Formats: sequence, structure tokens, C-alpha cells
Amino acid sequence: MEKSDPIIVVGAGIFGLSTALHLARRGYSVTVFDRQPYDESKYSYLHGADAASADINKIIRSAYGGQTEYQSLSTEAIAAWHEWNEELASGKTIPPGMTSKDRVFVANGNISMSEDSELPPWEQACIDGMEKAGHYDTQLATTNPRHCEVAASRGLSSYMDPFQQRSRGTKPVGVLDTTGGMAIADKACRFALHKAREAGVKFVFGPQAGCLQSLRFNGSKVTGVQTRDGKLHQAAMTILACGGWTPVLLPELDGLCEATAGSVILMKIPTNSPLWDRLGPQQFPTFTFNMRAGRKGGLYGFPRNEDGYFKVGYRGTKYTNPVRHSDGKERSTPATRWSAAERDGAQLVGERLTDFPREAYQVIHTFLDKYLPELREENIPIATTRMCWYTDTFDNHFVVDRVPGKQGLMVATGGSGHAFKYLPNIGNWVVDVMENISIDREAIQAWRWRALGNKKPINNLMEGSQGERALGNIALSKESTIKQPAKAVL
Ligand SMILES: Cc1cc2nc3c(=O)[nH]c(=O)nc-3n(C[C@H](O)[C@H](O)[C@H](O)COP(=O)(O)OP(=O)(O)OC[C@H]3O[C@@H](n4cnc5c(N)ncnc54)[C@H](O)[C@@H]3O)c2cc1C
Repeated sequence: MEKSDPIIVVGAGIFGLSTALHLARRGYSVTVFDRQPYDESKYSYLHGADAASADINKIIRSAYGGQTEYQSLSTEAIAAWHEWNEELASGKTIPPGMTSKDRVFVANGNISMSEDSELPPWEQACIDGMEKAGHYDTQLATTNPRHCEVAASRGLSSYMDPFQQRSRGTKPVGVLDTTGGMAIADKACRFALHKAREAGVKFVFGPQAGCLQSLRFNGSKVTGVQTRDGKLHQAAMTILACGGWTPVLLPELDGLCEATAGSVILMKIPTNSPLWDRLGPQQFPTFTFNMRAGRKGGLYGFPRNEDGYFKVGYRGTKYTNPVRHSDGKERSTPATRWSAAERDGAQLVGERLTDFPREAYQVIHTFLDKYLPELREENIPIATTRMCWYTDTFDNHFVVDRVPGKQGLMVATGGSGHAFKYLPNIGNWVVDVMENISIDREAIQAWRWRALGNKKPINNLMEGSQGERALGNIALSKESTIKQPAKAVL
């Protein structure tokens, strides 16, 4: 491939943005198509942006238990997040509508907590993995007196006990990853979009001109795409990075990737509430809670943002929306409040788009009542809910590879709930895969096109409309019934 040969990236979520940015940096000629008008919605979910990457915040952490390939990738990413913050602060790169006061990364730390009585092995593996890589005292265990002293000496004590358990007579059990914190997700995407444009990437946005209708073929070679406005666009390489929609667009991903939903609530803290400071990023970390505790766990949350939104998410059950597609097969298909009238004739459960899984609500509220009862005491209401769709793989590894049997086509997807943090650097790796550079690296090998075979899956995929996680088989509550002050009982 010549650098002047056109490359098409479909999808402007984090995989597409990062890939386009790094392709342009290496001198390629790139066009990104996305059916969403991101210049207008500015990647704000509250203003209609409908993608996993379009959000107010996402967790950033280095610690990955024993998975050192992702730990190293995170260390590389976090260095780049700091650089992006510096580019903003110095005025070197300021996207339209943002200022030098904006930040894309807040280093308020990420604490991984559980209800275990002692530090679980996964947390210890995080400490060990980081120490082995030379990052001493970046992981501070709440159960380790020396670590507590280190935290106190750095002014981090409130981050080590975010739910004020000690004053309530219980012991916090967890590890504060002091390298982590949160990405300000919408601003980070706008920043990456702006950088990519500055590097020469062309973006075509909108439901007609930006929407992939079909791939174009010459025999088994993909020669480009046709967009919904009927136009043909030629490419030497087409890279699909369509998040939760990728498995529907590329049925060859059956069994490897599936769209699943996390459940999110946003509460809104008034500026005059005592919780404004208490839950602000100057005191409160990003957190995960009981992540390995099955359906009753899988919780995470963030400090309130500058508009007062306090976000808590649940991934203990990853929901699916199986829809029968034109080839007769069922595939989980994202359905959100913004996508009612969508998708190529596929039937969607339109009336459920603003509904929320009762189980998710109950697990979140049981947790909040126990660990942040101040929210109930202060009558902080739920402002809105969200089903956030992403792409799970059976082993939680991404998929970055050429599509077998289809020359000129790659995928960059399968974020499995943890890819946002790699916005600054994942594209560099995607381009390495495209250029066949050092593809024996552990991460790249893990991201190859693959089949489950005899392995035991981490995520069971393709359970279809009979599966117990399918939206049609679970109890849903109308959003309006749970948007009451926290006292609402279901
Ligand atoms: C609830 C939730 C919480 C998460 N929390 C974290 C976290 O804390 N930390 C972390 O690192 N990661 C997190 N993740 C994971 C992370 O958000 C995803 O891995 C990542 O954002 C996926 O990016 P993407 O580019 O693959 O997909 P998306 O961001 O979904 O983007 C896909 C894009 O493709 C476009 N598209 C789709 N179909 C077409 C078409 N036909 N034509 C043109 N364009 C199309 C869409 O419009 C969209 O813009 C979370 C995910 C969810 C859902």
C-alpha cells in the first residue's frame, strides 16, 4: 500500500478517532465516516450523541491484575493523557468551543473496592504487577498501614476511604491506583477529533453522507464503501470501528463479538448541596466496587462533574437486545433513547428505549443506600438513565485485525468495556497491525481474529432472544418511575 492510497475509517468513537489520528501522523490519506453529527452534538450523550465513547467520564487506570499487556498499554496511554492536558493548558491545541482551562484527564485516582474482609488476590496482583514494572507506591492498599501513611503524606486520605467507612465503623478494602482517575470523555473525543483534523484527516458526518450503507467489493477484495446518500468511496483499506454496531455490520464477527449494554444513572447534585464538595474530584476518586461479584456487583462511579452530574454504572449483568436480521440470524443490536427509528429495517424494541433494568436500579440503589446514604438524606434525584452499548468479546480482549477472506478490510473493535482509556494511543497499535510491525507483541496477538474453540468464555455470547440477559426477558422500569428522589421504591 502506498501512503497516498486512500484509507477509510468507519466510526468516530475512540477506536476510529485514534486510528485516524495515528494513520495521518504516519502520512496516510484518511477519511472518517460517522452517521452522527458530532460537530453539533459534541460527543454529549445528553445532546443526542449515541456511542459508548460519547459520555461525561470514563475510568482511567493502570492496574490490570496479572494482565501486564494492558498495564503497559495504560502506562503508555496515561503519559499521553498528561501530554494532551499540557497541550490544552499551554494553548497549543484548543478545539473549537474549548478553552485552555479545560482538561481531558483528571488524575483523581481510581479505587477498586470490594466487600471482602481482606485484600482479594486480584488487587494484590495489581500491586505486584505495577511494582514489577518499577511503579512503586502507585498502588495503595487501604489495608496496608504503610500505604495509608503514604496516602496521608500525599494528601490522599479522602480518596482511600471514599464512602467514609472508617467513620461509620467499617473497614474500606481496596487499592487506590494513584496513576488513574477519569477521562472527561466528550471533551477528550472533541480533542482527538480536532487533532486528527489538524493532522489532515477528513471527517464526513451525518445520517446520510456519513452512514455506511454497504461495503464495495471486487471479488473478495473490499474496494471501499457506499454511504446512505448513494455515493461510492474508494479505499485501499477500509477499517470498521463501529463499536456496538460492528457485529451487525460484519456478521463474520458472530461468536467473537456482541453488543451488550451497561446500565447507568446520572444524579444531579445542586451547587449549594454539602455533597458538591464531598463528591467533587478534589476529594472523591473514581471507583469500582465488587467488580468480580457477579450480578450483585459490577458497580462503578465518578465524582460529580462541573455540571453536578454524579454518575454510577452497573455491569453485573450485561444486557442484550437480540434482533432478527435479514440473514435470519439474531444479533444483539444497540437500542437507546436516541436510536428508535433506526437500522435498516431491523425491528427494535422502540417502546423500551428509555426503560431501565429493574435489577440494575436495585443493585445501584442498594449500594448507594449502604455506602453513600447522604444522597438519600439530601433527596438527590436521578436526572436520567442510560443503556450504554459496547462490544464484548468472549475473552474481553479487543479485536484488531484483518478480516479473514476479505482483503482490504480490517476491524478495530471489541472494546469490552475497557477501551476508552486508550484513546490517545490505541490507533498507533492499529496502524502497526495494518503495517505488520512487531505483530508478535502480546497485546496484538491477543487482539487477533479468533474463535472460542474449547476455551471457557469470560463472556457468553449470542444467547439470543431466549437468553436470560435479553431485554425482552428482564423486568424493566419506566424511567419516569425511577426519576423520583432516591426514596422511590420499585
Ligand atoms: C457503560 C459503559 C462504561 C464504560 N466505562 C469505561 C471506562 O470507565 N473506561 C474505559 O476505558 N472504557 C469504558 N467503557 C468502554 C469504552 O466506552 C468503549 O470500549 C469505547 O468507547 C468503544 O469505542 P468504539 O470506538 O469501539 O465504539 P463507539 O464509541 O460506540 O463508536 C462507534 C461509532 O460508530 C458509528 N457507527 C455505527 N454504525 C455506523 C454506520 N453504519 N456508519 C457510520 N458510522 C457508524 C457510531 O455512530 C459511533 O460513533 C465503557 C463502556 C460502556 C458502555
